[in-house]
Amino acid sequence: MNYKNITVAGSGVLGSQIAYQTAFKGFRVTVYDINDEALGKAKDRIQKLKARYQEDLGATQAEVDAAYDRMSFNSDLAAAAADADLVIEAIPEVVPIKTDFYTKLGQVAPAKTIFASNSSTLLPSQFAEATGRPAQFLALHFANEIWKNNTAEIMKHPGTDAKVFDDVIAFARAIGMVALPLQKEQPGYILNSLLVPLLDAGQRLLVKGIADPATIDKTWMVGTGAPLGPFGILDVVGLTTAYNIGLAKAQATGDEEMQKVADLLKTEYIDKGKLGVATGEGFYKYPNPAFRAPDFLKS
Ligand code: NAD
Repeated sequence: MNYKNITVAGSGVLGSQIAYQTAFKGFRVTVYDINDEALGKAKDRIQKLKARYQEDLGATQAEVDAAYDRMSFNSDLAAAAADADLVIEAIPEVVPIKTDFYTKLGQVAPAKTIFASNSSTLLPSQFAEATGRPAQFLALHFANEIWKNNTAEIMKHPGTDAKVFDDVIAFARAIGMVALPLQKEQPGYILNSLLVPLLDAGQRLLVKGIADPATIDKTWMVGTGAPLGPFGILDVVGLTTAYNIGLAKAQATGDEEMQKVADLLKTEYIDKGKLGVATGEGFYKYPNPAFRAPDFLKS
């Protein structure tokens, strides 16, 4: 892997984090977004990340400033991709937007450039043809708060070149990630293939009246040694996200139990401003949730 210049396309929540983390680890980073207003917001977001790197990682002022100095910002796609070894795409999760983006990028990027998608729910094979270079395309999926939650799931589609796969795995390690290769396409990658069924099962136990959130979490925590149960995890994910996923599932399949889950999240939590850790209360109250009390796991 001899990547030096990385372009991050889409500078929202995840794109800003991917760009800053990559610069923090010494790469030259160009941030691309649709206009200067979006890039201005990204600059603010990235300036705020500096404090998180200092608090969470013990980075020095000089280090966080040097990382920012390795970044440049451009709203012209051809210019932003002109010397890119790798373009990481983190634009909206909307198929026509991504298809259009890859079609344009494929036309303006140099032949050497590798493309990687951070999409959470769409598969690389959906866009492989649009890129014009399917062998040089794959998924590279990060988690929110990338500097702490440092998973990188690297997923091939059937046409991805083996060296490209290996190089992107090496790149993920070079920017401080734990690299998790997926040899085949899998919706939800590894993490969400495990996590979503767990969260669903917890919520179904609750709406069926089997047990309360604390008992369900306690069972999982004592039984497996996990640091959080499904409701503790839902508070971290945010109940609005959980609601949107549950509602979409209920509407797509007519699943009445999932509809009950969505209704419960809405009326008992979201409508009362209890959105999870972010608002200080969800299934638990923060910063000292009941499941952290010394006797929670003992009785
Ligand atoms: P976001 O809405 O915060 O940011 C999207 C950015 O893309 C915005 O800055 C927007 O201006 C820009 N954009 C829109 N159209 C564009 C285009 N044609 N070209 C370039 N930029 C364009 O979204 P996000 O939450 O950062 O998600 C981006 C991608 O990352 C999605 O594919 C999502 O599935 C994935 N992802 C998100 C998370 C998360 O927790 N938010 C985690 C992992 C992966």
